[in-house]
Amino acid sequence: MNNTVNAKNNLTIAFKGGRILTMDPEQKYADAIVVREGQIAAVGDTSILKSFPDAEIHDLKDRVLLPAFIDSHNHLSSFGCFLPTWANLIGLTEKEAILEAIKRQARKEPGKGWVVGFGWFDARMGGVDLTKKDLDEVSSERPVLLIQTTFHQSVVNTQALELLGINRATPDPRCGIILRESDVTPTGVLVESAQIPVFKLVMETDIDTLADLIEARAKELFQFGITAVHDPGVTPDAEAAYKKLHDEGRLPVSVLMMPHGGTLLDNQLNHRLQGQVTGMGDERLRVGPVKLFADGATAETVAFSLKIGGQTINSGKYRDDFEEMLFSSIEKGFQVCVHSFGNATTDAVLKAFENAAIRAPAGFEMRPRLEHVTLINSLQIKRLAGMGGCACIQPQFLSRAQNTKQVVLDDGKWYAYGDLVKGGVIVASSSDNPGGFMDARDPIQGSVMGSTMSDGAGNVIFPDQVLPFEQWLWMYTAGGAYAGGQEKERGMLKKGMVADLVILEGNLDPKNPPVVAETWAAGKRVYTR
Ligand SMILES: [Zn+2]
Repeated sequence: MNNTVNAKNNLTIAFKGGRILTMDPEQKYADAIVVREGQIAAVGDTSILKSFPDAEIHDLKDRVLLPAFIDSHNHLSSFGCFLPTWANLIGLTEKEAILEAIKRQARKEPGKGWVVGFGWFDARMGGVDLTKKDLDEVSSERPVLLIQTTFHQSVVNTQALELLGINRATPDPRCGIILRESDVTPTGVLVESAQIPVFKLVMETDIDTLADLIEARAKELFQFGITAVHDPGVTPDAEAAYKKLHDEGRLPVSVLMMPHGGTLLDNQLNHRLQGQVTGMGDERLRVGPVKLFADGATAETVAFSLKIGGQTINSGKYRDDFEEMLFSSIEKGFQVCVHSFGNATTDAVLKAFENAAIRAPAGFEMRPRLEHVTLINSLQIKRLAGMGGCACIQPQFLSRAQNTKQVVLDDGKWYAYGDLVKGGVIVASSSDNPGGFMDARDPIQGSVMGSTMSDGAGNVIFPDQVLPFEQWLWMYTAGGAYAGGQEKERGMLKKGMVADLVILEGNLDPKNPPVVAETWAAGKRVYTR
């Protein structure tokens, strides 16, 4: 991997000799593109080059050039940047392997501090159930925390429970559960907002260190052709770290910050609503929609209403604290993005947006944005599209979608990516990194899984939702830009837009997918394969 920056940035550069995909519906393909001072100066047939006689010509050699990718759901500042400092448990399903990885982590970071692992998942998700007793084997003196791969559930050891002051007498917090034995003794498993105190402790760091961690993790994205992320849950500390990187010219990728509470899953952000609203900032660092959680990712905390064989089965509950914050945010002029996994949750979220429309300031564009939407029906799609809404989806979640295929519904579809697009919802694709069951940062891999609706092991799961490979590339570029309110500055190759580009080698064929050959950010080459 080569991250050297092209020092000749002030030159005028032109690309030709390959296929150019603009993602612009008015001019889908071009033969040449000219870049000057970090921006796109012209796009068209090769006759445009006559106006730029001094341009340095880059021969694409039959490769494909398109806008660089946007990962529109990447937890860069919360879990992502910390992952390299924690034990990475993603993909481990055996108890022994998990505990061994945690023990290794404890040896790697000796002392008295926290031992943290990320990426475990419980038996209901095909992994293994763990309690404080298992983690007490790792250490009885040091606090140990294992964060589930969804972030919505964790397990801690006895020492950690003591440090957190969680005992038999501790009540469940609002929108959270402390799992207990039959005699109400906590098992060590903390669900949803019951994790907030422990997240605060293990991710507390000074702004300089946080900025360094973000910078290092962000640089890894160039190899995937990504030059921009939407960070869905930016705490006040993370916002300060991003601003520091931006002010010092060290922010490797463009970031859309979605304001959130003090840690992830904390919907309380009243204080932040006094600050910069959605859209403020510049192309490198902009305030995005406020991020709220309407549900979680466990059976208890995702609200489904499943119609099966004429019967309705309701399960789980959505959060009771998102609606009031959604109204307050919109009244203050913020757009809002809501984590909405279950179909009953989505009903409540759509209703909240519909009710919020009358409270919005004059001329305000609400552009509702829903994250995940794992189950949705045609009426809900119509309601979301009717409000000019977006859905942000994660095709690599299909790696674990086999089980949902067994649940055949009378109403609604699982992973209805095709239906969302055909129903007029603007769809953005993303990784949820480091969440999920795999490292999902590669948009080419995401486009392969999405365009074949397969689990990554060659099994097609929902063939009726298939969309073309090029449509998926659109969702990682122009779709992402729209979902972030960035459609006038990135995501398409159009005059005046930022010159963030990716060059792919190979055909746009999911059976034999292309690879990222080069990544360019603001007219500079930042990655060469
Ligand atoms: Zn997420």
